[in-house]
Amino acid sequence: MFTKISCLSLMIAFMLLSGCHPPPSGEATGIRYPILYMQLQQMDMPAQLAMPVENIKPRQIQDTWGAARSEGRKHEGLDIFAKRGTPVLSATQGIVTRVGTNNLGGKVVWIIGPDLSRHYYAHLDDYADQIQEGDWVEAGEVIGYVGNTGNAKNTPPHLHYGIYVKGQGAINPYPYLVPSS
Ligand SMILES: [Zn+2]
Repeated sequence: MFTKISCLSLMIAFMLLSGCHPPPSGEATGIRYPILYMQLQQMDMPAQLAMPVENIKPRQIQDTWGAARSEGRKHEGLDIFAKRGTPVLSATQGIVTRVGTNNLGGKVVWIIGPDLSRHYYAHLDDYADQIQEGDWVEAGEVIGYVGNTGNAKNTPPHLHYGIYVKGQGAINPYPYLVPSS
């Protein structure tokens, strides 16, 4: 208990000292919003998450977890196919930790959510206008648009959605989006 309180007061002191400067990187988000960050830490990962692509029904998605990929990689997520430009929605509440690009994912957004789970949205055609690192988002909020950037450039537009949890790394998002009947 003592450690938690002192940690919190340290973070608040840091926040006051750093004033209104934006965080230098996604890693600093916990300092910008220490209370929200700690709330996320206390939350359990929900059994069901919001569908991260607008107007997609659970029966429209296929469980592609673990499928083979180039260079011996395994597919560490779920591909949700939709028309280019379809809104991509945050599956959880959380804090945006990265809005940027990488070779495989193209335009990507990372969001840290309940129990500090990390949510990866890749191959975006574009980001939502208002989305910035450090922003708080609610489940269902628009964070970007479906595309095929990165290594999906020869593939029809889709969202690659990944979930990474503490101690386990990547987990299969499918059961979180498609309730078992
Ligand atoms: Zn994928």
